[in-house]
Amino acid sequence: MTVVTRFAPSPTGFLHVGNLRTALFNFLIARKAGGQFILRLDDTDPTRSTEAFADAIREDLDWLGLRWDREERQSARLDRYAAAADRLREAGRLYECFESPGELDLKRKKQLNMGQPPVYDRAALHLSEAAKAARRAESAGYWRFLLDRERIEWADGILGDLSIDAASVSDPVLIRADGQVLYTLASVVDDIEMGVTHVVRGSDHVTNTATQIQIIRALGSQPPAFAHHSLLTGAGGEELSKRLGTLSLRDLRAQGVAPMALLSLMARLGSSQPVVLAGSLDELAEGFDPGQFGAAPTKFDPADLMPLTRAHLQALPFAAVQERIAALGVPEAEAERFWEVMRENITVLDDLETWWMLCRDGARAEVTPEDAEFVAEALRHLPPPPWEAGSWESWTAAVKAATGRKGRGLFLPLRKALTGRGDGPDMGQLMPLLQKAPRLD
Ligand code: GLU
Repeated sequence: MTVVTRFAPSPTGFLHVGNLRTALFNFLIARKAGGQFILRLDDTDPTRSTEAFADAIREDLDWLGLRWDREERQSARLDRYAAAADRLREAGRLYECFESPGELDLKRKKQLNMGQPPVYDRAALHLSEAAKAARRAESAGYWRFLLDRERIEWADGILGDLSIDAASVSDPVLIRADGQVLYTLASVVDDIEMGVTHVVRGSDHVTNTATQIQIIRALGSQPPAFAHHSLLTGAGGEELSKRLGTLSLRDLRAQGVAPMALLSLMARLGSSQPVVLAGSLDELAEGFDPGQFGAAPTKFDPADLMPLTRAHLQALPFAAVQERIAALGVPEAEAERFWEVMRENITVLDDLETWWMLCRDGARAEVTPEDAEFVAEALRHLPPPPWEAGSWESWTAAVKAATGRKGRGLFLPLRKALTGRGDGPDMGQLMPLLQKAPRLD
């Protein structure tokens, strides 16, 4: 059996870290099994789906290297959903309803007042043909799936054995009054017809899964394996949904987060396995095990991405950054040395630009009042650039001899004077890259 998974975003917004978790899990399951990964655009809602968001989804997945074997769009499959709806109607599993949202709300309130669960009472199921015709004359009907009121059970790949009493769930609406097929049905038809074998999605879908299992069976098929991952929360356990807007994949990309850092964190966060920086998606797939993930909400702190990004960048060979460095304007002859000197001093690639500006333009010296005289004296001993490998050593030796300073008291003010900052690469290596003497203004 070929393993087939799918990632099914609605193109109604940008992908965020929560979506990524779903995409990655499905991708890794397919990759590990040598199976297929489908990108399915759930775009049946024409008022909210846009081409621009569909493009953005593809672009974000590309950035991460999550390649899909096949793309499907629900908007191109409406006839398939209509055919499935007909079959459910024939089987007596789809019934027409007319209650307005206001009427339903009233029913729910009454049930709650009487201490009953707010489950739809199936009043429409008992309407006579004449009554239905009369209601239809007022407004078009919509269609609900008639659930079998029994316990629905499945072995969840993450949550373990689950069981939901269908009697505690309202019959789901599958087709709206304007004829639009809703996700619950469309997704099931796709999963069946596309041969999807494993569905991983967020635990907010658990109840959907229960009803979808019945719909799949009503359509004569066997349910795929389901697994529901926990939802992400902020670092303090707060709900993330409100902040997801700022945790879009494109924001993280703009902040300089490396794809492999993000993927490595997401493939392990919330599992019993430690987060380790992986070198490739294959490596992540190799060690991926949905069974290691817990049910509890998973804390996500975007700050955790920076040490991983840093570690990822430090391990990159020059060839991987050559283009980026050339784009900064670093002369070809200096480029490799520039990378070797800077790699341990950056967190994101954009930091290279700061360092290159310093090398090209020279620094504005940082001098404390107590060191002012010392630095002025030291700068008198500084030969004009270009500097070379031994320049730092000979300069500091000359300053030491002239002033008697040594150790930190000698080196730190000189570093700050030459670079305008107290940290950075080894000065002996950095100095040959500095093209200008510092400014004292
Ligand atoms: N479009 C649905 C969502 O984004 C897909 C859910 C599913 O994986 O079935 O929630």
